[in-house]
Amino acid sequence: MRRLLLLALFAACSVAAVSAQTASPYPALTIPLSIAQVPGKSVWYSTGNPGIPGRDNEGNTSNAGYVITSEGVVVFDALGTPSLGWALLQDIRKRTGKKVRYVIASHYHADHIYGLQAFKDHSDAVIVAQERSGEYKDNEPTADEKANQRLDQRRAALSPWVDANTRVVPPDITFKERMTITLGETRLTLIYAGPAHSSSDIMMMVEPDGVLFAGDIVQNGRIPFMNSEDVSTTQWLRALDEVAKLDPKFIIPGHGKTSTEAKQAIAFTRDYIQYVRNMMSTAVQSWIDFDVAYERADWSNYRDVPAFASNNRGNAYRIYLELEQSQFKADKP
Ligand SMILES: [Zn+2]
Repeated sequence: MRRLLLLALFAACSVAAVSAQTASPYPALTIPLSIAQVPGKSVWYSTGNPGIPGRDNEGNTSNAGYVITSEGVVVFDALGTPSLGWALLQDIRKRTGKKVRYVIASHYHADHIYGLQAFKDHSDAVIVAQERSGEYKDNEPTADEKANQRLDQRRAALSPWVDANTRVVPPDITFKERMTITLGETRLTLIYAGPAHSSSDIMMMVEPDGVLFAGDIVQNGRIPFMNSEDVSTTQWLRALDEVAKLDPKFIIPGHGKTSTEAKQAIAFTRDYIQYVRNMMSTAVQSWIDFDVAYERADWSNYRDVPAFASNNRGNAYRIYLELEQSQFKADKP
């Protein structure tokens, strides 16, 4: 009996010790991250759920990842809640004792940056973003997502994981076109690819591994969100050409599945953008109202794709406006 009691006591103590070591300073997740390694490379990534952020997926809808070099770790994106960012940081610490040197933000949208808080408060990482991420505010006319408005929405939709303590962490350093980070044998090139999906889109090419973190420029098997003033599908298509030119061996998109084939990975996003552009351009050229054009268009190929209901109509509207504007410009003498 006494031995049993001692055993129980010992078990309780060791559980307490373990949980003290990994206790989350943020509301606990019930669904663990889904982490995988790029075959044969020191690169790991977390795959999010394809839907929109909600309690069912605990806000885990985007992809993120990290590269372990001989001189430290570089993280690309921080996921959509501080709890998720913390979980990513714990995953890194489980694999290496090396310091997290940098966290790169693919762009400033809630589903990729709320996890920055965990890195800011619990590591010495330097947060890097493109300079237009500074427009991520409420009163900035060019902001493609109103920061406080979005935070309020997420506090409601993602309670308890996004709460009164959740804050937007700005970058420590920014760059304009390109930035290279060399750590040991690893060269990381940050490439500005916007304004395409947002004003501050960047991609990160990892060499010599040939791994590309593409951010939301590439979204595999999910209707991308395009309904903001800063979306330029013309520039987005150009950015996809850039991805093809980089010819990566492995692509980790901002949302959806990874791919070992650049062509295949960019096809989904490109085909979708092209399709919506084609549908809307006929309408714009024939002076057909947006509502009518939208009703007439055949969406059957995309209706069952995740995030169709929440994103497609707004995307079509944004593209309609973009095409209308470019026609107006072309018409001017
Ligand atoms: Zn996103």
